[in-house]
Amino acid sequence: MGEQTAFDFALSQLDTAAKILQLPENLLAQLRAPYRLLTVSIPVVMDNGTTKVFTGYRSQYNHARGPFKGGIRYHPQVNEDEVKALSFWMTMKCAVVNLPLGGGKGGIIVNPKELSADELERLSRGYVLQLYKYLGPDQDIPAPDVYTNSQIMAWMLDEYEKLVGHHAPGMITGKPLSLGGSAGRSFATAMGGVYVLEEVMAKLGKKPKNTTVAIQGFGNAGSFAAKLLFERGYKIVAVSDSQGGVYNIDGIDPVKAEGIKKQGGMLGCYCLGTVCSTEEMKNLDGPCHPVTNEELLELDVDVLIPAALENQITKENADRIKAPVILELANGPTTPDADPILFGKNVLVVPDILSNAGGVTVSYFEQVQNASNYYWTEAEVLIKLEKIMKDAFHAIWEMKERHQIPMRTAAFVVAIGRVAQAMKDRG
Ligand code: GLU
Repeated sequence: MGEQTAFDFALSQLDTAAKILQLPENLLAQLRAPYRLLTVSIPVVMDNGTTKVFTGYRSQYNHARGPFKGGIRYHPQVNEDEVKALSFWMTMKCAVVNLPLGGGKGGIIVNPKELSADELERLSRGYVLQLYKYLGPDQDIPAPDVYTNSQIMAWMLDEYEKLVGHHAPGMITGKPLSLGGSAGRSFATAMGGVYVLEEVMAKLGKKPKNTTVAIQGFGNAGSFAAKLLFERGYKIVAVSDSQGGVYNIDGIDPVKAEGIKKQGGMLGCYCLGTVCSTEEMKNLDGPCHPVTNEELLELDVDVLIPAALENQITKENADRIKAPVILELANGPTTPDADPILFGKNVLVVPDILSNAGGVTVSYFEQVQNASNYYWTEAEVLIKLEKIMKDAFHAIWEMKERHQIPMRTAAFVVAIGRVAQAMKDRG
């Protein structure tokens, strides 16, 4: 058998929950493939005058509960299988938090760090030119994901509005505030995860003080999670980015870490000249060490937060995970063959489709604000986000307790039940 892919993993999660739900065969068959998968070529005139052709995808997985919804990823490893898996997880995520939205996901095979801002703008506009007929506030609403941000959303909105000839701010979320973005959207994924973690801590009778946290990934989710948890008194002992990471048992100030990253690019250099001296970096008996992304996952911490890419915790390393709680802010960081190992070790895995649903929840709020052309304060957004995240947490916790199943299975059972209900009601 060849190596299992992200979409194989997604289907195996679907099958596990479908069995528990005794889902009718016809519904299961429909849920095993995306409704529509679009592949496009995007020619971009590069700054040196040559033309490069990029491949882009949009997987529209299921729209029984509402328009397709999900981010667009710019990454060299983007591929059809990954986009399909991510769009399936978006469908599940929106249902877990009970949003009136379906699931989709897009991506472009590109390393955005190698493109100039002008090239990136032309690429983003090209993606919309190829796909705009399939997008729109009532059809499919993109958002940021790995290596995309509010500026890219702004270019995409502008291109879309030019093509359709009218304003349509609700066609994309994660926009800058100046173009109808929502207060709180930039840190919403992390904030949602923090609300969920607060409930987990209450269930376990633990306090933030002296709770050690390791975070893999320092992007849209991980960097904000580090800052929000630090502000709440958690002890952040390890952070990483794609280049590597740093571990400091005395604690890391994520704002300082971010400053170093912005100056020099790499968190692995965080120690140099800041809280850890160069001397300590040399002396591995000191409190501060460089760590690889793999080592970070196996650190002896209270809470592990994978906030980068999928397939990080697998059957190969699951047995070596020491954290009793894993809060998944990435999409698909744990493979299904790792789940039983973690469950057997009593590791509480708070699944991605719950713990990272804060981002799409505030995306939904953004759309609601766009549709009514009336904007909420950050405090209003956060009150609403907190309620949705905590209600979803308790519904899933209760299901997990009732059936003595992993939280992930409980979350999929809740989500698939809701999607299947909408499909049945449509006839
Ligand atoms: N890309 C984010 C996610 O994976 C946000 C999606 C959205 O806001 O539509 O949840």
